[in-house]
Amino acid sequence: TETMTDLNARTSELDRGHVFHSWSAQGSLSLLPIAGGRGTEVWDHAGKTYLDFSSQLVNVNIGHQHPAVVQAIQEQAATLATIGPATANLTRGVAAQRIAARAPEGFDKVFFTNGGADANENAIRMARLHTGRDKVLSTYRSYHGNTGGAIVATGDWRRMPNEYARGHVHFFGPYLYRSEFWATSPEEECERALHHLRRVIEAEGPDTVAAILLESIPGTAGIMIPPPGYLSGVREIADRFGIVLVLDEVMAGFGRAGEWFAFDAHDVTPDLITFAKGVNSGYVPVGGVIINDAIARTFDERVFPGGLTYSGHPLAAASIVASIDAMESEGIVAHAKEIGADVIGPGLAELADKHPVIGEVRGTGVFWALELVADRTTREPLSAALMGKAKAELVGRGVLPFTADNRIHVVPPCVVTADEVAQAMTAYDEVLTILDRSVVE
Ligand code: PLP
Repeated sequence: TETMTDLNARTSELDRGHVFHSWSAQGSLSLLPIAGGRGTEVWDHAGKTYLDFSSQLVNVNIGHQHPAVVQAIQEQAATLATIGPATANLTRGVAAQRIAARAPEGFDKVFFTNGGADANENAIRMARLHTGRDKVLSTYRSYHGNTGGAIVATGDWRRMPNEYARGHVHFFGPYLYRSEFWATSPEEECERALHHLRRVIEAEGPDTVAAILLESIPGTAGIMIPPPGYLSGVREIADRFGIVLVLDEVMAGFGRAGEWFAFDAHDVTPDLITFAKGVNSGYVPVGGVIINDAIARTFDERVFPGGLTYSGHPLAAASIVASIDAMESEGIVAHAKEIGADVIGPGLAELADKHPVIGEVRGTGVFWALELVADRTTREPLSAALMGKAKAELVGRGVLPFTADNRIHVVPPCVVTADEVAQAMTAYDEVLTILDRSVVE
């Protein structure tokens, strides 16, 4: 019989031999074997445990193996494991109702997709058909997914090898720490970023712009909370020019920012909301678009030219219902907000006081970034080599980190406990001490 350690080795061997991985040169990949999990913890086949402060791809909001969600999937599998989208299904209907109930007034319909990228793809399609216009504006600091249009809407480096979709224009959003607008206060950053967006629209031709697509809080790009007034300012600009406002809540939504939707903390109502990840913590792949009544009516008489074999898959639907119900009954969204305000935020601020390698701490809920710098004055980003070292040192201390560019994103499940945060803070503290040695003070 195989020992536990052999199972880790066999997992790694099979992975290296046969699994082709995302966003990577395949040759030298050696990935951590993970066999199980519970809450904030995951473990390998030999029982070595890790605190998952990445929530995988910032999606396991309810934690690993929530029993009610697992049970709901098992029960649905035993009842009806699959059914086509052109049927009426009770579990699917309840899932759509549960989601729409968390959205603002005037959002009654949900189009289900397989994940976040195709949610954005379909929101773009709806906006284009609703307005009869082409262009989609999105920011340089964004990630919207890896399909035809979504990857070209994306701002980061992953767009460049994939630029085959047309009609995409980019602009800069607010980011005071590295302001594109020479701003020195949130007020200046907000006002100037809005002026810049209005000028881009005027220069592109307002009648050509179908949609502004924005992450309510840009996630992978750095967890930049928009300054007060920015999102409502974008709303005003969209209204003035008849442009559809799509807020991408794929990463920020369903508890991550300590709210059901991150935009709930801002004075704004979008026209379309895209979601995935936290809606069911990825127990079954799913995403979707929540559609306001005006755009939904566009397709009352006119055919909506889009669909997917697995749109509204019953296993996904069952996991959504159970996940939202558990988040509600266990107060998980409120917990995320409180632990962010009372434990994670203050803990990270303390680390920033102590470690010169930290340039800035920002975030809310269970959605935080440590921006690491080689020099606090010039704000030169910490090198990729040192970021690699940081990642390895954290994994060595039993903490799974999420790193992007020169940042560590502190993004545990919404159910993380104060004790687990304290354990992770000890590991961050030790690793930051190592990194401090290479910093110019
Ligand atoms: N939008 C945002 C804001 C995301 O963070 C992501 C994934 O990281 C996506 C869209 C794409 O979602 P998916 O990977 O499920 O296609």
